Amino acid sequence: MAESTDNLAAVLHGIDDLRMEQIPIPVPGPHQVLVRVHTVGICGSDVHYWTHGAIGNFVVREPMVVGHETSGVVAGVGSEVKDFQVGDRIAMEPGLPCKGCEHCKKGRYNLCADMKFFATPPINGTLARYVVHDSAFCYKWCSFVGTSVGVTSPLEPEKAVGRGDEGREDGRSRKFSSNSQIEEWEPFQVLRDFHELLIQPINGAFPLQNPSEDVILHRPHRLRGPRRLGQRPSLAPVGRLPDNVSFEDGSLLEPLSVAVHACRRANLQMGNRVLVLGAGPIGVLNMMTAKAAGAGRVIVTDLDDSRLALAKKLGADEVINVRNKRVVDIRAEIILAMGSEPDISIECTGAQPCVETAIMTTISGGVIVLVGLGASRIEIPIIESACREVDIRGIFRYVNCYPTALELVASGRIDLSGLTRAHYPLEQTLEAFKRTQKADVVKVFIQC
Ligand SMILES: [Zn+2]
Ligand SMILES: [Zn+2]
Repeated sequence: MAESTDNLAAVLHGIDDLRMEQIPIPVPGPHQVLVRVHTVGICGSDVHYWTHGAIGNFVVREPMVVGHETSGVVAGVGSEVKDFQVGDRIAMEPGLPCKGCEHCKKGRYNLCADMKFFATPPINGTLARYVVHDSAFCYKWCSFVGTSVGVTSPLEPEKAVGRGDEGREDGRSRKFSSNSQIEEWEPFQVLRDFHELLIQPINGAFPLQNPSEDVILHRPHRLRGPRRLGQRPSLAPVGRLPDNVSFEDGSLLEPLSVAVHACRRANLQMGNRVLVLGAGPIGVLNMMTAKAAGAGRVIVTDLDDSRLALAKKLGADEVINVRNKRVVDIRAEIILAMGSEPDISIECTGAQPCVETAIMTTISGGVIVLVGLGASRIEIPIIESACREVDIRGIFRYVNCYPTALELVASGRIDLSGLTRAHYPLEQTLEAFKRTQKADVVKVFIQC
């Protein structure tokens, strides 16, 4: 088969000037992998570059490919890459730090001044059919090895044991619960239970040659977390390993990593009462991450009832609409709903009244994490913060969070399937960007 030369990409030329263009398929360097991009989630920053041409000091001066929340399949590996094979499903952490500066050496590479970050000018992003990336910042889904526990046939569905989730090539997934029927199996719609079963063709080779082939149900011994250097599952079929992490989950690891970093910066402890200000994608993911990390009551505020309703559905203990309310009243309402002042406030709006609410409401000695970015200068009640030892901490992206985010999803501690979403093919990138402005879904995904 002839090698594909199609590398359609979404290239931003300036404000409101997003074009679909062919660009050369990149060649991976020795330590890089070539990735056939599968799914890219559109982020607020992508939209901001499109509508404003800049974020702070980062200005789009020359055409730039947008997109940075990426999952895909390895399509080629550089000569020095040991841990990835063609066919591996991966999520891509978007930033490449210098690895040599003080911050990098101290393990806080998110602060590296020489960071090259997808879709932050002048670095091209990932909204294309093919991109290359350093393998050290690619994360493979968990690998499985195990022993067989039964045999079944795709055309005569047997009862599946345990609980599971059907990861599909189109990124959607369908849950099945204990003893439910598996209704449709196709060769590439690999099915795996959360931790209990994996389906493998009886001859041990992928892909299935014939959909009616018998398959073995395996009960795997889990290899924890993403692949670590030098670790290779000796018994697992190489290549297309089954997974319960969908490609959309894979691209959601990017905003989820922001939440993981925010909760770490907050030093969140078991039982902490947490206030999350803002019920957009980042606010909701912070709420879910705080819960997964053992928080006690988590309360979410926003101006929009439908966003709040979703936050409630996804696990918030209480939600409060703060529209047209005074900070003093919001504070009283939060404390009433929480039963006390929050130990931690995670500010995901960047709006002055919310930052003020966080400072006025957080318990003395507590922590506020500033996640949302708004105006570069705002007025805040600084004495409240200083004299009650309420620490105000910033976050910048994330550092060493992808493995944790992946583990949270793979283990089922965080279930992203409830996030509302819309889907567009790469060719309809412009429509997808417009859809984000309707704000009727948490996430808009583009399939490349
Ligand atoms: Zn993002
Ligand atoms: Zn560095």
